This record gives sequence, structure tokens and C-alpha cells, in this order.
Amino acid sequence: MIGVPERQRRMRVQQIWHWLYVRGAQDFDVMTTLSRDLRSALMQRFTLARPEIAAEQISVDGTRKWLIRLPGEVDGRPHEVECVYIPDANRGTLCISSQVGCTLNCTFCHTGTQRLVRNLTPGEIVGQVVLARDRLADWTVPDPMHAPDKRLISNVVMMGMGEPLYNFEAVRDGLNVVADGDGLSISKRRVTLSTSGVVPNIARAGTEIGVMLAVSLHAVTDELRDQLVPLNRKYPLRELLEACRNYPGLSNARRITFEYVMLKGVNDSLADAKALVRLVKGIPAKINLIPFNPWPGTKYECSDWQQIEKFSEIIFNAGYASPVRTPRGRDILAACGQLKSATEKLSARERLALRAMAMTD
Ligand code: SAH
Ligand code: SF4
Repeated sequence: MIGVPERQRRMRVQQIWHWLYVRGAQDFDVMTTLSRDLRSALMQRFTLARPEIAAEQISVDGTRKWLIRLPGEVDGRPHEVECVYIPDANRGTLCISSQVGCTLNCTFCHTGTQRLVRNLTPGEIVGQVVLARDRLADWTVPDPMHAPDKRLISNVVMMGMGEPLYNFEAVRDGLNVVADGDGLSISKRRVTLSTSGVVPNIARAGTEIGVMLAVSLHAVTDELRDQLVPLNRKYPLRELLEACRNYPGLSNARRITFEYVMLKGVNDSLADAKALVRLVKGIPAKINLIPFNPWPGTKYECSDWQQIEKFSEIIFNAGYASPVRTPRGRDILAACGQLKSATEKLSARERLALRAMAMTD
């Protein structure tokens, strides 16, 4: 390693790791525990420059959305992903992306309509957490007198753009850095990966990543799920639930979250709720009901609030936690499934239409 004697390497790596992931160094110059020579050698070979934030939006509810520009372009259009910070009373959740766009075409998802797709690198995955800590001034400060009570980003969910289990190695390597106790230190119990159901990689996610698993279920019959989540034609419900049952590390303390988007008149009958309970029987689970977030051009509507409540009650009475995910940041298109980078920009009219939708429901 660039002239560092063998016996010092371990220590130097630890020091650099600390500067990068605990202190958030943006420059090698600030790494005062390293010799001047080593700092300049690093500077000549590497950069700590962050990717450009092409846009930052702040919702009326405090949610922040960043459009991050990454290297590479197609037909003159840059590669971009979105990353969303959602503050809450007792936690702050960062929603990160795993791909530019998505190759799957779930019919209710805005990201799925984006054609341009590429995998993120591990650095680009970790980089979203680093960038968010920069923007929120959420790094460890050396002076304990001025240290904040708690971290703004306490949880990470990989629920942004892309299907993480179709970019397995990069997601694994990136999340292992995010969870590293000597670095960013966001414990694996506070990191959740959401998959639309890439069955062959579910067990690997458990053993090689070990984060909490969320599964986008959305329907209780293959017939309907084939339409909503077309990947179901490849990996049908029976196989998906079998993989969930066998998820390594699954226990009552580490449950799988089943996500269920509430689509009016499509999957929201009370019979569906009962079938859902039967389907997940025996799996330590939470069921997260997501009110559908509309986007311009979609054929779906969100279920009525009363219906969502009745649906939730059936699940709750069967012994499952059934929180309804409060839509956050709808006014800035930051809610679940609304993410779509500016590589295909919304027209001003589409934006207005969306804003109007967000305000009325
Ligand atoms: N590709 C992964 C993770 C990203 S999507 C997956 O599909 O699981 C995160 C969650 O938002 C998924 O459960 C997804 O089905 C849901 N979602 C997508 N579009 C939505 C929309 N318009 N309204 C509400 N939820 C949506
Ligand atoms: Fe891709 Fe997930 Fe959207 Fe489906 S819901 S298109 S898997 S991002």
C-alpha cells in the first residue's frame, strides 16, 4: 500500500476507516493522525469528492429528497438516483437506492416505468449514507460538549429505486460497510432490505448480509400477483413464502416485514385480508400496509381510508402488527414507489397534477 511498511498497514487502514466513516472526512488533509507524506500520497491517488447533488427538495413534513448524479450517461442523460430522509419522533430513516431505475415492471410503481437502468457500485450505495450525513451534519464530532444527543440517521431502508437482490454483490458489500461497527455503525437490525421476491437470493441475503428482510407481497393469489408484480411468474407465491419461512436468522425478535400496497378495488377486500393472514401463517411476520402513492398516468387509486382500517384490523386481530405506513413527502414525490430520477423528467404539468393528487387525499 503506497509505501506504507507492512507492519503499519493494519493501523493505517483503521485510522483511514475512522476518518472516512466516523468523522466523515471530505479531504485527506484533515487526517491529522497520518503523516504528511501519506496524506499527499493518498491525495494523488484517490478522491473523497462526493457525488453531485443535482437537486434537494424538502417536504412540508420535513422529509428531504436528494437527486444524486452519478458518473455515466446514456444519450446525454446523466445517471441519477434518489435518496430520501424521513425524520420521525423517535428515529430518522434513510431510504437508499440499489440501481438506477429497475428492470422489473411492477404495474403500480413509478420507478418501474423508467427505462434507463444500471447497477450501483458498493461505493455508490455507501455514498448515499455518507452524503446524507454530510447534508444533515450528522457526523461524530470530536468535542463531546457539542455532540448531539442522538444520530439523525438511525435506520436505513433499501426501498428506493431498484431491486437490491438483482445487484446482490454490490448491495452485500455496501450494506456490510454501512453496518460496520468501527465505521458508519448502523446496526443490521436497523437496516432493512426490501425485495419484490427474487427467491434464489433470499437465503443468501440472510447469510451474507444478515439485515432485516421486507418482502413486497401485494397480492394473495398468483393470478393477481402475476399482474401486479410480474416477477411472480418466475417465482410464484408458494416458492416465495417457502424462502421466507427458511430465511436465516428468522425469529420472533427478527420478523419478516410483508409489504402490501393498498389498491382500491384490486387487492383490498376483507376476504383478501383473511387470505393474507392464512398465507403467512407460521412465519414470524409484521404486515406493513402501504397506502398507494399515485403518480401521473397510473391506472390505480389508493384504497379508501376506512377500508384500510378494516383491512388492518383483521390482520391485527389475527395477532400480527399491521402498521399503516404514513405516506411521507408526497408533495415532493418522495413517497414509496414515486421515485423516478430526472433522467426522464416529469413535465411541469405532470408535477402539478401530482401535487394536486397529493393534496386532495
Ligand atoms: N424493488 C424493491 C424495493 C423498492 S420499492 C421492492 O419492490 O420491494 C419499496 C416498496 O414500495 C415496495 O414494497 C414497493 O412495492 C412499494 N411501492 C412501489 N410503488 C408504490 C406506490 N406507487 N405506492 C406505494 N408503494 C409502492
Ligand atoms: Fe422495481 Fe420494486 Fe418498483 Fe417493482 S416495486 S418496479 S421491483 S422498484
